[in-house]
Amino acid sequence: DEGLQKTKTSFFDQLSKAVVGKATVDEAVLDELETMLVHADVGIDTTVKVIDRIEKRVARDKYVSTSELDRILREEIVELLDRNSGATGSRAILDRPDSPGSPFVIMVVGVNGVGKTTTIGKLAHRFHSAGKKVVLGAADTFRAAAVDQLIIWGQRVGVPVISHGMNTDPASVAYDAVQKGVEMGADVVIIDTAGRLHNKVNLMNELSKIKRVMQKVIPDAPHEVLLVLDGSTGQNAFLQAKEFTKATEVSALAITKLDGTAKGGVVIGISDQLQVPVRYIGVGEKMTDLQLFDRTTFVNSLFK
Ligand code: GDP
Repeated sequence: DEGLQKTKTSFFDQLSKAVVGKATVDEAVLDELETMLVHADVGIDTTVKVIDRIEKRVARDKYVSTSELDRILREEIVELLDRNSGATGSRAILDRPDSPGSPFVIMVVGVNGVGKTTTIGKLAHRFHSAGKKVVLGAADTFRAAAVDQLIIWGQRVGVPVISHGMNTDPASVAYDAVQKGVEMGADVVIIDTAGRLHNKVNLMNELSKIKRVMQKVIPDAPHEVLLVLDGSTGQNAFLQAKEFTKATEVSALAITKLDGTAKGGVVIGISDQLQVPVRYIGVGEKMTDLQLFDRTTFVNSLFK
């Protein structure tokens, strides 16, 4: 997998270094492994969990050769990523019948710069190219660039963008976008939102208001709250994730920029600690650089 080349090389190299010259998994190897997982940004809590589980296996089986460590580690990590399998939430959109009259509404949250707009463009492309009708809502009205960029993505993909311009009421944009989606018989409405983390109460209020207003059109909307995180920022992404899950109910994650980083381990820690499924990963700047997250493929890509 080209997109995850950097992540993979690093993880595998480090594991090889950790076991060089050792026949069995002992304390020293586990120490090395622990350091490796922390460096790969798995996060301390999840690292401790993984090491504990491997320690138990070693204690039970008495002799575990280092050549088996690679397989055991993969098994444990795949296990941690358990909730990430299956086509649920927005990943099930392609399986829904066309024009159900009530679009699936995705509210996208995340701080500026993480790749939120790009991810929305990629998602729009994914649904649109599968024959689904898509509407975008430019409710990140705080930054002129955000509105402009979403409009550009809309043109590039060929889907309508509802926008009232900068500094307008985001909830009103969201309302109109969902309304437009219903009128058009759209399958999906994707709403961009502003991610100003420095004021949590504001953020919380704004996201709640956007939800409340769209529920006047579709009572159970949004059907997915997708948090976008920049995977190349390691533990910073983890902190953002914690803040956002406090501000609103996040139901799925998209982790971007995994093409340019050796810090892919953050995906494991975030998914484990937050108990929220990773649905998508971003592996480049192009429209097509969005992959469905698959735990086994991902874990294998970390190693070989
Ligand atoms: P926003 O402020 O969160 O809306 O961020 P943007 O969507 O504008 O993205 C910020 C920058 O990150 C842009 O230069 C994007 O091209 C880039 N970007 C977004 N996703 C990815 C990704 O998966 N890989 C790489 N390499 N760059 C990305």
